[in-house]
Amino acid sequence: MNIRDKILNGQRIDYDEALSLYEMDFFELGALANTIREKKHGKKTYFNINRHINPTNICADTCKFCAYAANRKNPNPYTMKHEEIMDIVKDVDTRGVKEVHIVSAHNPDTGINWYLDIFKRIKIEFPHMHVKALTAAEVDFLARHYSKSYDEIIDLMVENGVDSMPGGGAEIFDEKVRDYICKGKVTSEQWLEIHQKWHERGKKSNVTMLFGHVEKREHRIDHMMRIRELQDKTNGFNAFIPLVYQTENNYLKIEAPITANEILKTMAISRIVLDNVAHLKAYWVTSTVNLALVSQEFGANDLDGTIQKESINSAAGAASANGVDLEEFVGLIKNSGFTPVERDSVYNEIKVW
Ligand code: SF4
Repeated sequence: MNIRDKILNGQRIDYDEALSLYEMDFFELGALANTIREKKHGKKTYFNINRHINPTNICADTCKFCAYAANRKNPNPYTMKHEEIMDIVKDVDTRGVKEVHIVSAHNPDTGINWYLDIFKRIKIEFPHMHVKALTAAEVDFLARHYSKSYDEIIDLMVENGVDSMPGGGAEIFDEKVRDYICKGKVTSEQWLEIHQKWHERGKKSNVTMLFGHVEKREHRIDHMMRIRELQDKTNGFNAFIPLVYQTENNYLKIEAPITANEILKTMAISRIVLDNVAHLKAYWVTSTVNLALVSQEFGANDLDGTIQKESINSAAGAASANGVDLEEFVGLIKNSGFTPVERDSVYNEIKVW
């Protein structure tokens, strides 16, 4: 059976077959991914109304691709007080935001409670607010820095009200590439172990892949395969989120940014390979809104959310600092031929727009 028929019959493809998809005709590949998208989700494109909060940019790590940490190329170190964070949550709660997405750098000076107490405060004052917080990289940092096991940190997250984990810090699992771009940070094996432990507590998370820097196509496929393997065991990942590397203000110095063609092929291949992950998110923050809209025809069924404010990728040149207006967002999805569906953080449908 050729690979096309295999995919259309819902059969799983292996590493070599996945890699060979990069050589397939661009539009044929898009159509195959779209077939899977339509089987799973029809014309629905999900989004949520969320607010990203990045409480500190002071970091003990030194990832080469990072433009956000104050020890890299960002000249403005900051650490927010809990009162400031609560003011933001209070404000966005009045404006319909249902999820706060809280991700920080690895600040060695705040004490562990600065990281954890804020979740409890949010859940006490706003019990309906979904708290998505702490990447596996942060979990690993807190465990190392405060001499705790992963299980202890994860138990503390649950006790303090974290509802789900974001997918950040996965970067690229290939050890050589990872060593080059973010040596010293959580290893691939540890990243997967932390998510496995989180899933074993009945909790959900997402998983990202940072691409478009020094990695090769082989490394992207390897990354997807490792995700598929863990998902077979736990079924804990809600969404796969390919993140396009941002070129500005960092030490990787990639001359030629990845092409739109290569981004869309990668999206489509991930939709085909990750047959056990329900959602493929086109994170417009890193791919631009326009390309995210086109990605809907290459397998993507989720455009993240309105964001409202974002500091990490915008530091590296992404146009995400101020988020996007809800009406405009909904209009863009409709005009591209899809049905905007507002969802909660774990994909329950809230409203079909
Ligand atoms: S990517 Fe995260 S862990 Fe790495 S230097 Fe930047 S803030 Fe720190």
